[in-house]
Amino acid sequence: MISSKMLKLTQSGGAIRAMFEEGNRLAAEFGRENVFDFSLGNPNFPPPDAVKTAITDVLSEYSPNEIHGYMSNAGFVPVRAAVAEFLNKKHGTCFGADNIIMTVGAAGGLNAALKTLLDPGDEVITFAPYFVEYGNYVDNYDGRLVVVPPNIPSFQPDARALAAAVTRKTKAVIINSPNNPTGAVYTEASIKDIAAVLEQKQKEYGAPIYLLSDEPYRELAYDGAAVPYITKYYGNTLVCYSWSKSLSLPGERIGYLAVSPEAEDAALIFDAASIATRVIGFVNAPSLMQLAVARCLDEKVDVAAYDANRRALYDGLTARGFKCAFPEGAFYMWVQAPGGDDRAFAAAAKKYNILVVPGTSFACPGYVRIAYCIDKATVERSMDGFSKLAAEYGLTV
Ligand code: PLP
Repeated sequence: MISSKMLKLTQSGGAIRAMFEEGNRLAAEFGRENVFDFSLGNPNFPPPDAVKTAITDVLSEYSPNEIHGYMSNAGFVPVRAAVAEFLNKKHGTCFGADNIIMTVGAAGGLNAALKTLLDPGDEVITFAPYFVEYGNYVDNYDGRLVVVPPNIPSFQPDARALAAAVTRKTKAVIINSPNNPTGAVYTEASIKDIAAVLEQKQKEYGAPIYLLSDEPYRELAYDGAAVPYITKYYGNTLVCYSWSKSLSLPGERIGYLAVSPEAEDAALIFDAASIATRVIGFVNAPSLMQLAVARCLDEKVDVAAYDANRRALYDGLTARGFKCAFPEGAFYMWVQAPGGDDRAFAAAAKKYNILVVPGTSFACPGYVRIAYCIDKATVERSMDGFSKLAAEYGLTV
């Protein structure tokens, strides 16, 4: 028999993945062009050309042993040094190569960080709505995820609610900005408030509380929205970065964990997180991708294309009476479910071959997430179905 934890996971399934499979089923039945699959955050736009050039250059410039061999668990030193230098130039930080661990995406970084920090029973706080895998990642290391209720309607993290949630057992807090699923970008004021609460609680309990900044969407911010760099506001910060979205490389599994040089036990955390990467079973981040992304640090996907989708979807939905905040970042629209029942609304949308994810999957019922990382023509063609949905729910503008 498999473990009871895994049995539970196989039985509950993953709502988002289930939607994705449903999309494939509908596409087989009705044709891909007649299915409006807004379920998964799988980037539709291609990586910048520089990525392909970097990969081919690396393959021709290095020997196979250099590219494909085992290496130190933290990754290639020159790659880590290049990442550190890039961050320092961009954000005025003081990272060195020994603050950077190359990881298997942000998911790998979060797992390495949690493996490094958690003892069984330790608590990790996050803010609803949140990326559903956080619960699984924390559970991997026998921690307990504590969820701060959603701060409606701004969806900024609520520092007062955070203060109420911190206990002696709190080891870490996970934040995610630009946010999946709301598209909110946390303001500098919000970050300062969180930092103040954590500073005060650290003093009160005489123990560090680490802030894990999950940043796969850092480069996807619109209208010049500033995305504050967290290490500048709070010393005990670990940044979990990924190129999954910024370079459209989610299948390549490449990112890094940056340990603030000001973090308590920074050197020990670096050593432990490097070992964590190994003992979790990743061993090291994909080697070819490490070498390739180091040459693409200034590159990003066509953010304007996401922006065009954002505007088309927002204008289309609000013109039909749906209520949603204009997202400031990432590629998700967070829409109030008409009638208040997100699951019923997602089921109703499916009748028109529109796939959206109920907010319940993010610990925030009453909303649905619409991922607009798909081509614009699909967004436009979906509007007919959204009109029918609006009529079904009696929406007016
Ligand atoms: N964190 C958030 C908020 C995400 O949305 C995702 C992926 O969608 C991840 C982490 C995992 O990203 P990666 O592909 O870099 O592991």
